[in-house]
Amino acid sequence: MLNSYSAFRLFFRLALFLILFFFVGALVGHIAVVMLLGTTFMLVWHYRQIARLNFWLWKDKKLTPPQGQGSWEGVFNGIYRLQGKNRRRVGQLATLLARFRQGAEALPDAAVVLDAEHNILWCNKLAQLILGFVWPQDSGQRIDNLIRHPDFSAYLKKANYKDPLEIPSPVSDKRLLEIRIMSYGDRQLLLIARDITRIHQLEGMRKDFVANVSHELKTPLTVLQGYLEIMQGMEDDDSPNQKPLLLMQQQTSRMQSMVEQLLALSRIEDAIDVDLSKMVNMQAMMEVLKEEAVALAGSEYTLEFNCEPGLNTHGNELQLRSACSNLISNAIRYTAPGGVISVTWRSVATGALFSVKDTGVGIAPQHINRLTERFYRVDNARSSKTGGTGLGLAIAKHALSHHHSELNVTSEYGKGSTFSFIIPTHLLERQ
Ligand code: ADP
Repeated sequence: MLNSYSAFRLFFRLALFLILFFFVGALVGHIAVVMLLGTTFMLVWHYRQIARLNFWLWKDKKLTPPQGQGSWEGVFNGIYRLQGKNRRRVGQLATLLARFRQGAEALPDAAVVLDAEHNILWCNKLAQLILGFVWPQDSGQRIDNLIRHPDFSAYLKKANYKDPLEIPSPVSDKRLLEIRIMSYGDRQLLLIARDITRIHQLEGMRKDFVANVSHELKTPLTVLQGYLEIMQGMEDDDSPNQKPLLLMQQQTSRMQSMVEQLLALSRIEDAIDVDLSKMVNMQAMMEVLKEEAVALAGSEYTLEFNCEPGLNTHGNELQLRSACSNLISNAIRYTAPGGVISVTWRSVATGALFSVKDTGVGIAPQHINRLTERFYRVDNARSSKTGGTGLGLAIAKHALSHHHSELNVTSEYGKGSTFSFIIPTHLLERQ
């Protein structure tokens, strides 16, 4: 029976025994002796209960406690109840853990749990397969002792897991892995590794295909353009052939600029390790950009160029110029004559800002996130009419990513847009 004794009940029992001993003592005429014998008997009895409890807790294999007697019954039963509760809780936790592990095993990626010192606590079967871990032998090992790649060690050391890391698999250097790390719980880390060999191959094939096709189209288009010019020169000005020849020439030159943009994009995409040690003279570059803008805009636009003197950057001049000139030519092409285009290069708190502000057609908010996708155009007809290829902003985005920067776009539909980027302080040089 499960019951507990209240403090009052315990004192009551004690008092009852003492009164009993007192009366027995009075009856036999030896109160002190009987009281002493009685309390000694009680003490021995309690010690015996403690010894039984001790034996059951430490030596006995039985789950049920021995039958408690008197005031000890509540203690024995209470301990048994607590044990049962703990057993149930451990059972629940074990089920939860088993479920978590089953879930992690079902993941299509390798999953590894690490502690704050990067020691392996647990990994799933796929981790054993694609990362080459041996389980349970590798449990407790530091992960950078098993994945021995300098980029991986640097990634762990930096502890900035915002971007994933791509490294060859420790099992086969023909396979490429994408590693992501997330921190969770009590300073633990979850590492997810995915085999991206196939995606990487397909991406490579896509790039090669675009580069090869663009390259192959270049010569025939130049020949076509040349013959069209000759034919146009051979026809009289009022000949009915003039119009179709002019249209053909316009279309071939559009195709030519698209091919050139595609080649420029694949060149920029392919340049993984861009040399950022060379200094780019921004004042000189702004002069060139201004000349180009004046040639494109003519006298119909107001062009404002503001350049902070002596503020230069390290980087690839060709790529930076291509990004900037795409932004400026877009501003002119998407602004009606009479508009104002302001180009600025100046220092800000986090680096140097290049911005192109126009008073043009503007862009509705739903298009802004997609502008840098290849061939994405807000208005196809308008873009074709202005000689657009849909590749200018994709080129700018890639060129800027090589300079640790990204394109920011703010725009108000019908009022104008601002395209800008910030070159971080560590690339800048002031003279
Ligand atoms: P395109 O060669 O078509 O101009 P881009 O990649 O340079 O291609 O630009 C993508 C689209 O972004 C354009 O088609 C146009 O709709 C929009 N866009 C770019 N710059 C501006 C701008 N300054 N004002 C309004 N729309 C713009």
